[in-house]
Amino acid sequence: AKAPMRVAVTGAAGQIGYSLLFRIANGDLLGKDQPVILQLLEIDNEKAQNALKGVIMEIDDCAFPLLAGVSAHSDPMTAFKDADIALLVGARPRSAGMERKDLLEANAQIFTVQGKALDAVASRNVKVLVVGNPANTNAYIAMKSAPNLPAKNFTAMLRLDHNRALSQIAAKTGKPVASIEKLAVWGNHSPTMYADYRFATIDGKSVKESINDDAWNKDTFLPTVAKRGTAIIEARGVSSAASAANAAIDHVRDWVLGTNGKWVTMGIPSDGSYGIPKDTMFGFPVTTENGEYKIVQGLDIDAFSQERINLTLKELTEEREGVKHLLA
Ligand code: NDP
Repeated sequence: AKAPMRVAVTGAAGQIGYSLLFRIANGDLLGKDQPVILQLLEIDNEKAQNALKGVIMEIDDCAFPLLAGVSAHSDPMTAFKDADIALLVGARPRSAGMERKDLLEANAQIFTVQGKALDAVASRNVKVLVVGNPANTNAYIAMKSAPNLPAKNFTAMLRLDHNRALSQIAAKTGKPVASIEKLAVWGNHSPTMYADYRFATIDGKSVKESINDDAWNKDTFLPTVAKRGTAIIEARGVSSAASAANAAIDHVRDWVLGTNGKWVTMGIPSDGSYGIPKDTMFGFPVTTENGEYKIVQGLDIDAFSQERINLTLKELTEEREGVKHLLA
């Protein structure tokens, strides 16, 4: 039997956590033959720790055959100990009257502490996914706070945008999502992200040519994908936690187990590809193999796409400037 892998999850008693933990323990993250140990972090207050206890009682009651252990933590130094995977879900939500700058700073503090803890105690091969918003900048901060870990091990979640775009294209073309290949999402996990189906194919045929409607791209598709989170909050009254959890599972599973040549989108530190400055935590189309991702190279960037990429890059650069003083 395989040795168990340690999966640390922060914000574990939150909405996304509630959709995420059961699927990890069920084998959806790392495979149906891979035992897992869950190391769950919540903030150090009684309400959160009690809620976490309740979630763990439910996890226990599922009697998951693959679950080799579960522990509750309030300190990242114990939660991240020897972690093979770290899902950083917990983040400070925007409260009434809070400005964007305050939100960035509050989260910068959290992700500095967590980056340092990962640096100190996690597996040297730990794969980190940041879900908590602003995800790209939080991931950048954690990466910069962990100089002894490879920068490439820090990633941000763009997969929900990718999956949302897939589902819109499937609905528009009447084809199954699984038949769509070569979709790319560029940039920040925010409404500025650029979902790009210019290279996408269905059964080998061009999606762009079969849709053949640039106005639909610009006026319907991109805004629908960008505003999907808001539309779900308006409809349900609460946020899109289950689809976010599902995207987190997709991201890490594909990173660990490989995509077999299929393109997926990951927020990763740029290596300078496509003119994105090195280390910018940016959504790129990638393929993965043997636990490593590779940016899809050589794609032609037309004027419209360049404009969109510049816009999302500008937002990320501003976010980064906003927290620079905290990274001294
Ligand atoms: P959720 O579990 O719903 O969301 C957690 C984070 O994921 C938020 O930053 C949220 O961003 C982000 N997110 C990314 N994509 C999505 C999506 N599609 N839909 C919804 N959220 C998305 O938040 P809860 O408040 O229920 O739970 C958070 C938990 O984290 C709490 O239990 C809290 O105690 C804990 N926490 C931990 C901290 C820490 O680790 N130090 C700090 C603060 C909180 P957005 O805000 O933009 O929706």
